[in-house]
Amino acid sequence: MSGTVHNDVSLLLAKRLAEETQGQVLFDLPSRGRYATDASIYQIMPVGVLVPHSESDIATAIAIARDLKVPVLARGGGTSQCGQTTGAALVIDNSKHFRRILHVNAEEGTAVVEPGLVLDHLNARLKTHGLWFPVDVSTSAQATLGGMAGNNSCGSRSIAYGNMVHNVLGASAWLSDGTLAEFGPVSGLSGRAAKVAAFVQGLARQHGAEIAAQWPKVMRRVGGYNLDIFDNQSERPYTADGSVNLAHLLVGAEGTLAYTRSLTLKLAELPRAKVLGVVNFESFHAAMDAAQHIVKLGPTAVELVDRTMIELSLANPAFRPTIETALIGRPAAILLVEFAGAHKAELLPRLKDLADLMGELGLPGSVVQMAEDAPQKNLWEVRKAGLNIMMSLKGDGKPVSFIEDCAVPLQHLAEYTDALTEVFARHGSRGTWYAHASVGTLHVRPILDMRRDGAQKMRAIAEEAAALVRKYKGAYSGEHGDGLCRGEWIEWQFGPAINDAFRAIKHELDAINLFNPGKIIDPPKMDDASLFRFPPPGAPTPYKRIDIKPVLDWSAWDVQADPVTEATTAPGTGGDSTGGLAKAVEMCNNNGHCRKFDAGTMCPSYRVTRDEQHLTRGRANTLRLALSGQLGPDAFTSEAMFETMDLCVGCKGCKRDCPTGVDMAKMKVEFLAHYKGHHGHTLKDRLVAHLPAYSRLASRLPWLLNLRDRLPGAALLTEQWLGLSAKRSLPRWRSDTFWRRPDAALFSSLGATLAAAKADGRAAVLFVDTFNGSFESENAIAAARVLKAAGYTVHTLQKSGGHYCCGRTYLAQGMVDQAKARVSELIEALLPLARAGVAVVGLEPSCLLTLRDEALVMGLGEPAEAVAAQALLFEEFIAREARAGRFAVKLKPAGRAILLHGHCHQKAFGAVSPILDVLKLIPEAKPELIESSCCGMAGSFGYEASHYEVSMQMAEASLLPAVRKAPDAIIVADGTSCRHQIADGAQREALHVARLLESLLTG
Ligand SMILES: Cc1cc2nc3c(=O)[nH]c(=O)nc-3n(C[C@H](O)[C@H](O)[C@H](O)COP(=O)(O)OP(=O)(O)OC[C@H]3O[C@@H](n4cnc5c(N)ncnc54)[C@H](O)[C@@H]3O)c2cc1C
Ligand code: SF4
Ligand code: SF4
Repeated sequence: MSGTVHNDVSLLLAKRLAEETQGQVLFDLPSRGRYATDASIYQIMPVGVLVPHSESDIATAIAIARDLKVPVLARGGGTSQCGQTTGAALVIDNSKHFRRILHVNAEEGTAVVEPGLVLDHLNARLKTHGLWFPVDVSTSAQATLGGMAGNNSCGSRSIAYGNMVHNVLGASAWLSDGTLAEFGPVSGLSGRAAKVAAFVQGLARQHGAEIAAQWPKVMRRVGGYNLDIFDNQSERPYTADGSVNLAHLLVGAEGTLAYTRSLTLKLAELPRAKVLGVVNFESFHAAMDAAQHIVKLGPTAVELVDRTMIELSLANPAFRPTIETALIGRPAAILLVEFAGAHKAELLPRLKDLADLMGELGLPGSVVQMAEDAPQKNLWEVRKAGLNIMMSLKGDGKPVSFIEDCAVPLQHLAEYTDALTEVFARHGSRGTWYAHASVGTLHVRPILDMRRDGAQKMRAIAEEAAALVRKYKGAYSGEHGDGLCRGEWIEWQFGPAINDAFRAIKHELDAINLFNPGKIIDPPKMDDASLFRFPPPGAPTPYKRIDIKPVLDWSAWDVQADPVTEATTAPGTGGDSTGGLAKAVEMCNNNGHCRKFDAGTMCPSYRVTRDEQHLTRGRANTLRLALSGQLGPDAFTSEAMFETMDLCVGCKGCKRDCPTGVDMAKMKVEFLAHYKGHHGHTLKDRLVAHLPAYSRLASRLPWLLNLRDRLPGAALLTEQWLGLSAKRSLPRWRSDTFWRRPDAALFSSLGATLAAAKADGRAAVLFVDTFNGSFESENAIAAARVLKAAGYTVHTLQKSGGHYCCGRTYLAQGMVDQAKARVSELIEALLPLARAGVAVVGLEPSCLLTLRDEALVMGLGEPAEAVAAQALLFEEFIAREARAGRFAVKLKPAGRAILLHGHCHQKAFGAVSPILDVLKLIPEAKPELIESSCCGMAGSFGYEASHYEVSMQMAEASLLPAVRKAPDAIIVADGTSCRHQIADGAQREALHVARLLESLLTG
């Protein structure tokens, strides 16, 4: 079952799914587009998407699809790298509702889980039992167990624990004829499963000679079906006692044989202690050669970091101190060798064994021994981040994953990597190597431009790599699966007879070819350009970008990159008809990192909705499809695009957390400018945007404007009239604004400030934003008092008839021209001070940081850069001055615990640790950071009736429960809207850090 699905069938499918299931039925073009890609280079539009609610929804959907002859494609996190999760099928997304742990048997060390459960979430629950599921893939924060089983995924510690196939004990799964079959140990099978087992066993017997001759004898072989369960060929047998488990046939089948309903997993004891030895090598070859000897010491991981990664880490100020702890001189490569066990004391001799071994190999003194946990953890983080930096290369050439997990026996690893490096060089490319040296699977991605000659080079490199794999008797597919990029190599790897046996297996389990057709059996060519996300010229529909004149400056993205040196051309020379906007959007490679729920901000709207649409990736995909004309004319300014961007709170979490730096907050400003340009602004938009302009007048009539929250029914009226939620109180207007009551004695003239800056540098200009100035003037006064008490000369800007503003409220409504007018006025006023080296100190993170972010992409030139270079948040300034030994005030103890909520923009700019540093200046203070994403208020977002529920869900995700749990703590929150959200949701007052410091000043 494959080929084209006609429109009428698709309509009927959607209708029947809507009538017969409770799930979300998504058949519109943008929704389908969001499910057309995984983390590979491919894109195939699905027929439609179902997000099922219940098991019966899945069973019903399979039945309807069977009736209508529409293929079915099961999906978890969609993080596959080979295109196995793309297809012209009904995509069924398990990740929203099928994430329960059904059963844990701690004594036996087993768990039964639903397929949409994410690995990290399972392991978080298992921790209390001292257990974990040890297939520790790098995508553990987003990979689902169903997807991991589908791909036969493998983790960094596979040398100790094996691949997915070694850790699955059973599976309950639907077959395409609707049968629900139980797959497990062959000895206990009955019914349909027993019949399948007998059939596969017969095939294994029949092909015994070919299996023995053709099958790669390495543990890291994930290509094809696991026909060898009846005739084990893996270095590591699939079961400890040599018995056969039929569930292993489904593992690595990429959803082509059955649809997994639940999995039974084998758990492992959580290692209580770990030590790390970092071996430094003068040549890459030596590192590769040493791996075969090191594994004999029984490590749990041997991971490679090559010179490029080392250099990238050294170049990054955040990582440099950590990577330096691992280095002896400037090595060409390092191997991270980990030993794990019950006690640290018993592991320390293993590090000595490693050092001795290296001595015997002629490398004495090459091991850095790390016994403590913190430096080990930091180093693993750097190894991950190095890869992210590599993936953030701008321009059309990108590191492409297609031969990145060939596995070769360890004794040949050095020769293989040398030879492949030569192959890259011959094709004008180069690779950065990393990952699993322990099992002969090194990741390497040559840089290719898939929009131009990438496909030709890809085939040529693949063919030469395959020849090397054959020479060294390795596996062509060793970790990420076959999908579209390696499917055609299955027959090459196993030969025609075994390939026929695979076909027979498929027929036995899925005779109608319902499940994920075109994967494993009858795959297309890897370089079929019609399947590429970026089809090159000459393809049936080459990738094109529409013409757009952006309102922000995206030229930094509009570049080309050299595939060997990675050097990029000058900004604006990349030939992007959208001025770089599309290329910035295309930086999203669909790795799915934004689907995470751990520490960090990205992505709050996904965290509460779990909808692909409300995820950074979903937004980037929708923008990419619109900007390349794939969603029809005017899609960029359509209602569908608006809905996709609507729940983006502009938190800038992705700017920091996305490995490739997709900055959706900025993209939302750009989008809104075009969308509102087309459709016009609402009254509410104008009311929010122009707040800085009318705030002066409003503060003269506070009693009138505050009536909205006092008069019964008034709030409801404003909800109906303006769309502002009646459930929200609004910020309270007051007549004693900062500009009307500045304590003159606190502030110095411009001349005195410039003189102080010249004399001893102890000078600052306090930029008071609309919110602090209008609603919480005490914060600004407090900041000035603290700075004054510490001996600083403080100036503040005065403007007749109003005040200076950064333009934030205009940006939030897409009024970029007006924002530009505001911020350029501010920059002009600040410029003489900034040029004289006076720090520009601000209180509201979103306002001050506008000077360091959006103001730099509005075409304001060097003055904007000069001001940005001096712009610091209050706490950043104090932390900097304290580090320099210049900030000395006497503070008394707070006497209570201090809880800190970081504003999203503070997090995005790494400005949370300075607040902690400043809070630690308070005697006896042990401030604790609340692990929270966005507070949910996000400027005007949470005040809007249409967003109220989502806003509260964001706050309830972690912030408000943490505040409630600490009834006596002082809550510090520097964001105006965060303080409002805390007051609304937990009825607690939160303070700006300036207020807290001021209250603790002595004398
Ligand atoms: C940056 C990055 C790093 C990675 N690192 C690793 C790594 O360290 N190790 C590794 O092995 N892989 C790695 N991968 C690949 C990928 O993340 C893993 O294979 C992961 O396990 C896939 O999980 P998923 O939930 O995203 O699966 P998906 O991509 O959604 O699905 C994977 C396959 O399983 C099938 N499937 C999903 N659910 C079901 C079901 N219920 N029934 C039947 N079939 C189903 C799908 O049809 C598909 O064929 C990496 C990928 C990226 C982008
Ligand atoms: S937006 Fe960033 S984190 Fe999310 S999938 Fe794209 S590249 Fe990955
Ligand atoms: S800005 Fe925030 S809400 Fe918007 S996509 Fe990025 S992380 Fe998600």
